[in-house]
Amino acid sequence: MKPMGAIPADYAGDALVMGGRGVADLIAEAGDTPAFVYDLGVVAARVKRFRAAFPGVALHYAIKANPFAPLAVAMAGLALAAGARLGIRPRLAVRVNPDFEIRGSGMRMGGGAKPFGVDAAEAAALVRTIIAAGADWRGFHIFAGSQALDAAAIVEAQTATVALAAELAGAVGAAPPLVNLGGGFGIPYFPGDRVLDIEAVGAALAETLAARPAVLAETRFAIELGRWLVGEAGVYLTRIVDRKMSHGETFLVVDGGLHHQLAASGNFGTVVRRNYPLAVAGRLGAAPEEEVSVVGCLCTPLDRLGDKVGLPYADVGDVIAIFMAGAYGASASPQAFLGHPAPCELLVGKA
Ligand SMILES: *Cc1c(COP(=O)(O)O)cnc(C)c1O
Repeated sequence: MKPMGAIPADYAGDALVMGGRGVADLIAEAGDTPAFVYDLGVVAARVKRFRAAFPGVALHYAIKANPFAPLAVAMAGLALAAGARLGIRPRLAVRVNPDFEIRGSGMRMGGGAKPFGVDAAEAAALVRTIIAAGADWRGFHIFAGSQALDAAAIVEAQTATVALAAELAGAVGAAPPLVNLGGGFGIPYFPGDRVLDIEAVGAALAETLAARPAVLAETRFAIELGRWLVGEAGVYLTRIVDRKMSHGETFLVVDGGLHHQLAASGNFGTVVRRNYPLAVAGRLGAAPEEEVSVVGCLCTPLDRLGDKVGLPYADVGDVIAIFMAGAYGASASPQAFLGHPAPCELLVGKA
């Protein structure tokens, strides 16, 4: 048997319950399987924890992590919406490609040649042009990495980001109204992944900001999170449509697949395929009874959602829950590939 990631603590219990409702209820309200269900209560708890750890720092939501409209609307009330107001005078912030990245982050967004952002060396000149053209310069956005679980590495990157913002402000000759420190707070998908200590990051950032250079005295700071806010709030529910043996290996074929939840198949930005946490939705707590591979319904060997995992016996009609599905799931998967219908999506729970 191969290991899989741990089920998030939000879903302790013998059967999957989200927003106070059981699996059959959730699927009935979503419409059918396959379905993504998001729990607003989990998101609200993350927002609350962020606010306690980062007093005085604004929270932005990186909507690309999960643009499901009911969730985005609910979050607009929880986090400061990042949308620009419509105006005659353009409001512009400059995304800077820093010369550093978050050490060990899952996806590198800075350091060296990058297709996005303005190289740090050219940023000050661009901002001067923006100001001279009469636009409303809002500040800098410096995003150095994603899916980072090491608090010390994030602290290092945030410290370097504040220093870079101060250096650029000096070169521009004007203070940025806002410095967006980027996102990148990771969540534990796989066995051995640690849980990020955001309180340690918050404490270190408070110290860095208390000692910041004078040019940034009036600057507001923001952190823009996607994955950490919504990743663990989502569960992908997919029903077993066939149970088959091939060369001694048991396959549970489900009605969903990588066209909805590409990341769980290991084909979204990972080098080595590892198992996301998954379970038989009605029997989360049950001990494993057999080794199975959970495969999607697409006719490609890439469509493997669980590789040789231990599960209690499950058969046609049972629902498999795949966790960590709230960020970069439905909207980051190739839904049109092989022509199956789109997944149902449902928001449950209360803030
Ligand atoms: C995606 C993105 C974020 C959020 O990234 P997460 O790793 O999901 O927190 C922040 N800033 C920018 C510019 C982004 O593109």
